[in-house]
Amino acid sequence: MRTSEIAKRYLDYFAKHDHLVMPSASLISPNPTTLFTIAGMVPFIPYLLGEQTPPHKRMTSNQKCVRTLDIDEVGKTTRHGTFFQMLGNFSFGDYFKEEAIHYAWELLTTPQSEGGYGFDPEKLWVTTYTDDEEARSIWKNEGFDPEHMQIFGMEDNFWTTGGPGPGGPCSEIYVDRGPEYGKDGGPAADETRFIEIWDLVFENYEVDNVKSKTDMHIVGELENKNIDTGAGLERLAYLMQGKQNIYETDEVYPVIEAAERLSGRKYGEDAAADVKFRVVADHVRSALMIMSDGVRPSNVGRGYVLRRLLRRTIQAMRVLGVTDPVIPELLPVSKDAMVPSYPELEKTFHDVSESAYGEEDAFRRTLDNGIEILDVAVNKAKKTADPVVSGQDAFTLHDTYGFPIELTLEMAADQGVKVDEAKFRELMAEQKSRARADALKKRHNVDLSVYDDFKKTLLKPIDFLGYTEFSARGK
Ligand code: ATP
Repeated sequence: MRTSEIAKRYLDYFAKHDHLVMPSASLISPNPTTLFTIAGMVPFIPYLLGEQTPPHKRMTSNQKCVRTLDIDEVGKTTRHGTFFQMLGNFSFGDYFKEEAIHYAWELLTTPQSEGGYGFDPEKLWVTTYTDDEEARSIWKNEGFDPEHMQIFGMEDNFWTTGGPGPGGPCSEIYVDRGPEYGKDGGPAADETRFIEIWDLVFENYEVDNVKSKTDMHIVGELENKNIDTGAGLERLAYLMQGKQNIYETDEVYPVIEAAERLSGRKYGEDAAADVKFRVVADHVRSALMIMSDGVRPSNVGRGYVLRRLLRRTIQAMRVLGVTDPVIPELLPVSKDAMVPSYPELEKTFHDVSESAYGEEDAFRRTLDNGIEILDVAVNKAKKTADPVVSGQDAFTLHDTYGFPIELTLEMAADQGVKVDEAKFRELMAEQKSRARADALKKRHNVDLSVYDDFKKTLLKPIDFLGYTEFSARGK
């Protein structure tokens, strides 16, 4: 089943159960504390907090999300994308735990021929919060195998906003990929074999004095209890499509194929190269989606995240042996794979691609400047027992060749070499204070001369000659 069909089934299922289907909000987060929309619930926060009245008490969406927190996991785990889509169903003071669990169970286990996802109930596991006996008994009543239930504490299975307000226990649903993927013992034992696909949050408490994930005060029960759920579309897709990870699904894999063609290498033959193929496929798609929502490369905030995604793509392709421009080859492929779900990509693509291609050109110039110097530094380091690129070399690369430290770190790591980052930071700090001192000195000098002139010309004692000279000048 294609990813777009899996999303459609979700939205259709909840529409059938009287949910209002909402379009995805922009990736540019409406919440000023985060750069990007990181979860399906973000656009609904005012309703969840009771600050605004929702247009309907039951809503559902397929929300575009970006999580940069997961960037180092990309390509290495089977389940983390920087861009992904979160399906969600929400109840604002309407249905609660019983229906939320029933809906999830029914959609997951109804055969595909009858509109569901057709997961084998024997492969499903759930976790619940320590004190949430109610959730456990609802799962059991649904026919869930008690042997496949695990209990977790506040750290893992209790949600809050991070401050005073609503909070509550959650119940996470996992799929067992089978013994060939790891050890027995459920999600508590192995997160690569047991994949979290759906998180059901039951917001029934008011909390305050939230000091940490485990240290807070539960004030009491909320009058309006909410349901907030999030199911990872890419995770559902890879499991339902019989693939090994989220990068092999229909919306992502075409970019891996394009990277294979460009590099002349085969995905699946070399573990280190495979990570790069997956990074490329993930990052190209994230860059495309972020740019389509209006972000452009820059040195700050979202623009900087985007710049890093594009640069990491180019760099990963270099590791795969491709030094020619790659973005014009990869971006259209990602667009074609995503357009069935996001037709607006056709409209934005002209501007998006021009900007992305320009960014690659600029980055290639930076690379051309620094790459030989980095190679020399890496080769020098490799001659030692514990290969480390010196902080001084990293600093020179940055200072003289405009080679960002992240790039030095990543490119050195690709060759199994570390970088003396502490020394680099020290040299950067020294340079900053030198620059500050220079600026001060300069300002001081300029100011002094200005004041000298000022003193000489304007502050000398003035003899008011108006009465005597006015008439003379006027002649
Ligand atoms: P994990 O612990 O596996 O990283 P999570 O606890 O961070 O997941 P939630 O914040 O509960 O996940 O998000 C809800 C759902 O969204 C998850 O069950 C998962 O299916 C999906 N999801 C979360 N992060 C990602 C990601 N980086 N890439 C793809 N899907 C994700």
